[in-house]
Amino acid sequence: MNRLMKKETKKEELIGNLGNNMARSSNSRHFHEMDINERLDYLKEYCLDDNDLKLLAEGISLENAARLSENVIAIHGMPLGIATNFKVNGKNYLVPMAIEESSVVAAASNGAKYALPEGFTAEWLGNVTVGMIQLKVQEPQAVKRKLMRMKSDIIEWINDTASSIVKRGGGARDVTFSIVKTARGPFVVVYLYVDTVDAMGANTINSVCERLAPRLKETVGGDYILRILSNYAPEKVARARATFSKDLLGEDCIERMLDGYALACADIRRATTHNKGIMNGIDAVAIATGNDWRALEAGAHAYAARNGRYAPLTHYEKDTKGNLIGTIEIPIQIGIVGGITSVHPTTKIALKILGVTKAQELACVMASVGLAQNFAALRALAVEGIQRGHMELHAVNLAMAAGAEGKKADEIAKRMVAEGRISLEYAKRLLEEYR
Ligand code: NDP
Repeated sequence: MNRLMKKETKKEELIGNLGNNMARSSNSRHFHEMDINERLDYLKEYCLDDNDLKLLAEGISLENAARLSENVIAIHGMPLGIATNFKVNGKNYLVPMAIEESSVVAAASNGAKYALPEGFTAEWLGNVTVGMIQLKVQEPQAVKRKLMRMKSDIIEWINDTASSIVKRGGGARDVTFSIVKTARGPFVVVYLYVDTVDAMGANTINSVCERLAPRLKETVGGDYILRILSNYAPEKVARARATFSKDLLGEDCIERMLDGYALACADIRRATTHNKGIMNGIDAVAIATGNDWRALEAGAHAYAARNGRYAPLTHYEKDTKGNLIGTIEIPIQIGIVGGITSVHPTTKIALKILGVTKAQELACVMASVGLAQNFAALRALAVEGIQRGHMELHAVNLAMAAGAEGKKADEIAKRMVAEGRISLEYAKRLLEEYR
């Protein structure tokens, strides 16, 4: 066995030990049972080196942060956790998640555990980013016809402009033309479909749109108005699927989960929260990996309403054996290069921990995280209610909000949970007692 294969096997063993109860060796412990230093040691054995750990501890410098945004005064920290138990298309992953909300990382890991041993199967339609150029012209119909006749020239222009992306295997995939009637009259809209390979492609497509628009103006007259990508991204849909065993869940739990899911299908008040739960997971991975979570949010909710009615992004049904089958279909607008992915040190390390080599792979993991997150929330809601687990984890936030620090915060949280009295008021009282 060569060195690389040995390393890969070690990784598989380590993840198996961490995540899957069945594969867990007697002397290994779950990630959540380790303290922070043990987790870092574990990651060092898994994939990180000393320099990575140093960067992880330091994060981005204030000087570099000031280069990313404007009017910068400080760096806003956020917890970075690791979700375990994720097996996607046969490969095990440790999934970095940056999120401040308690219980999200735990729920994702828990949901993913129910999908074992097979884990998730996932696919991504691809990374076609769509740009739009709005043209204000005298005779929209005639201009549209003219542009349609020039389609192959326009595709060539796009590929000339984005030649570096063509060299990477991407480039223009299509161009379409519409007349969009608006309150201010009709506009001809040119839609550019460009495969941006491993980059999310927002800047890439915006540059293409801005360079192409004057050329179109020169050709058809009139003027151009907006030149920008669209965050509505059905061309980037990822699908993931998992079987959640009846033996693990129990028939009653599955029935209750299906009742809960039916409500999400019928009531927008529930559907929105259902989808928010999905985005808890997807956004957290997006933030950890330096992706644009606002784009993901906008795209997901627009897609949820694509049939004219806002609906859940997951689907649940029983198979012939009574197991619960969960699926998710959601646009995933992400990249593993570009944006801040290769600039922010923590982001680079998150991508290293994930071990993804293509945007395709990251999209499949993210869709699986969304499904696991939603499954876990639906199960908790259907069985015991979400507050028990949530409030236990939230207790420490309350203790800190009351002014407790370090171990004192842990002790106060523990006491509130043990006594079943989890509130800010009570945390303050307990803190007084400790003083
Ligand atoms: P970049 O502008 O960083 O462009 C991608 C870069 O990656 C290019 O420089 C490209 O090089 C390089 N690259 C290297 N390897 C590859 C590869 N294998 N595949 C593809 N590109 C590769 O990022 P994006 O265009 O992806 O834009 C993302 C950023 O845009 C995000 O930060 C997002 O927040 C922001 N944004 C989002 C908007 C929205 O969603 N509405 C609007 C505007 C910005 P080369 O140039 O040589 O091809």
